[in-house]
Amino acid sequence: MVTTLVQQYFSESARRFPAKLAVSCAQDAISYGELESRTNARARELRRRGARRGDFVPLFLKKGVHAIEAILSILKADCTYVPLDTTSPGPRIESILAATRARQVIVDAATEARLREICPSAARLDVVSLDRAPEDPGDPLDYANLSIDVAYVLFTSGSTGTPKGVMISHQMIVDYIEWCVETYALSDRDVLANHAPLYFDNSTFDLYCAFKTGASLHLVHDDLNLIMPKMISWLRERGVTTFFCVPSVMTILLKSGRLAPDSFPALRHVIAAGEVLPPDVVRRWMELYPDIQFTNMYGPTEITVDCTYHVIREKPDPDATAIPIGKPRRNMEVFVRREDGSLSAEPGAEGEIVVRGNSVAYGYLGDPERTRAAFVQNPRHDLFHDPIYCTGDLGRIGPDGSILFVGRRDQQIKYMGNRIELGEIESVLLKIDGVLEGVVVFNDSPVMDEKCIGALVVLAPGTTKRDVAAALQGRLPAYMVPRKIAVATDMPRTPNGKSDRKVAWDLVFAP
Ligand code: AMP
Repeated sequence: MVTTLVQQYFSESARRFPAKLAVSCAQDAISYGELESRTNARARELRRRGARRGDFVPLFLKKGVHAIEAILSILKADCTYVPLDTTSPGPRIESILAATRARQVIVDAATEARLREICPSAARLDVVSLDRAPEDPGDPLDYANLSIDVAYVLFTSGSTGTPKGVMISHQMIVDYIEWCVETYALSDRDVLANHAPLYFDNSTFDLYCAFKTGASLHLVHDDLNLIMPKMISWLRERGVTTFFCVPSVMTILLKSGRLAPDSFPALRHVIAAGEVLPPDVVRRWMELYPDIQFTNMYGPTEITVDCTYHVIREKPDPDATAIPIGKPRRNMEVFVRREDGSLSAEPGAEGEIVVRGNSVAYGYLGDPERTRAAFVQNPRHDLFHDPIYCTGDLGRIGPDGSILFVGRRDQQIKYMGNRIELGEIESVLLKIDGVLEGVVVFNDSPVMDEKCIGALVVLAPGTTKRDVAAALQGRLPAYMVPRKIAVATDMPRTPNGKSDRKVAWDLVFAP
C-alpha cells in the first residue's frame, strides 16, 4: 500500500495485526484493533464537535496511551496535532494556543484541571476529555487531507522569547520513516521503546516506525525517567529491540554502573540522536554489547528528525574526540555554507551546516520573518523556489565525505537532550521586575553532573537572587531554569560595549 497520510500506517497495521499490542505505557496497554476503532470514533467526535480540516489541535496530555490516542484521532479528523509539554508554565502554553488559533484542545482527567488553572483562555476552547468514551461509531473514515498537509507542529525554543512552531507535513514524515524502516530493517517482530517526550521530534521515529511495521511501541513513562537505571530492567522485560535515545540517556545508564553484558538480550539497535555523542560513552557501550549496532543520527526538528547518519562500525579509540554525524540519508542533501556564502560537500570544507531535501519543513507557523531568515533560497540558482534550511550548526566535511559536527554559531544549546535558546531565557529574565541587566551562560562540561545553565544579573536595590529564581520558575519550563545565579554590581563588558559572556561565565561557574 502506498501511504500518503501517516495515520494510514496505523490503519494498515491494525488490519494486518488487529490483536497485537500496539502501545503500552506503565500498566496501560491497547491492541492495534482497539486503538484503530477508538481513534476512528474519537476523530468522528472531534469533527462532530466542530473540528475542521486543517485545524491545529493541541494535546495537553502526559505521555501515555491517551496521548497516542489523541495524536491518531487528530490526524484522522484531517487536523494537525500539536503536542504540549504539560509541565510548561501557563504563559508558554498560552502563547502556543494563541499561535495555533486552537479551538479545541485534548486533555484527560490527569491534566484537565491544570490546563484550566494555568491557561485562562482554555475557558473559551472546546476542551475534549479522553476519559469520556466516544459515542460515535468506530468504522473507518474518509480523509480529505493531502500528503502535503501539515501533520504536526512542534514548538522549539526561540531566541526572541517566543517558541517557534515547526510545521511538518505527512509527506515529510513518510519520506523519513520509509528510509528508517528500510535502513534498520524493522518489521512487525520489532519492539520499540519511546524515550523522547512527544513534543520533541525524536518521538517521530518511534511512533511511525512502529505504526508502519506493526511493531509494538512501549512508552517510557515519566516515573521511569526519574529513576533512570530502572529503565535497564524495563527495556529487558519489554523485549525492546530498537532504542532511539539522546546520548545523555546512554551516559546516565552507563554511569549507573548497572549495565551488564546480559542486560539486553533482545536489543539490536541503539540509535543516538539529538546532541553530541561522546566517543567514550559509545566505546564503553560497544565493549559491553558487541552484537548491538550503534548509530549516530543528526538533525534539527526543521528537517524532520534526522538528515545524516553514521553507523559506528569500529569501537572509537580511547583518544577519539568526536563521532562523525555521517552522510545524508536518502532524499536529503547536506552541505556546509562557507564564509563567502557558497555551498560545498567537498572534503575539507567548513562552515554552517545547511540542508535541502524532501523533509525540509515549511517553516515556522505564523512567523514569516523567522521562516525567511532560516529557510533561504538555494544560493546556486534563482530559477525556482528551492529552499535550504540553515541549521546554525557548524560542520566540517571529513576525508570520506562524512560530516563532523563542530559546534554552534549562536547561543543555542542542548541540555539533557532539550534544545534551548539562551536568548529565550534571557528575554524572560529581563522582564522580571528588579532585574536591570542579565546574561545567561551554559557550562557544557563533558562531565554530565557539571552541565548547568547559569545567569549573571545586575539587580535593583531590594531585589534578591531568590526573587529572580522564583520568578524564573514560574515562567520557564523546568529544564530551562538557570540553576546558578550570580549577582554583579556592574555587567562586565567587551571593548565594543556588549555584555562580556566569557567573563560572565567565569563569574557564574568559576567565581
Ligand atoms: P532538535 O531540533 O531538538 O532536534 O535539536 C537540533 C539540534 O541538536 C541540532 O541543530 C544540533 O545542534 C543538535 N544535534 C542533533 N543531533 C546531533 C548529533 N548527532 N550530534 C551533535 N549535535 C546534534
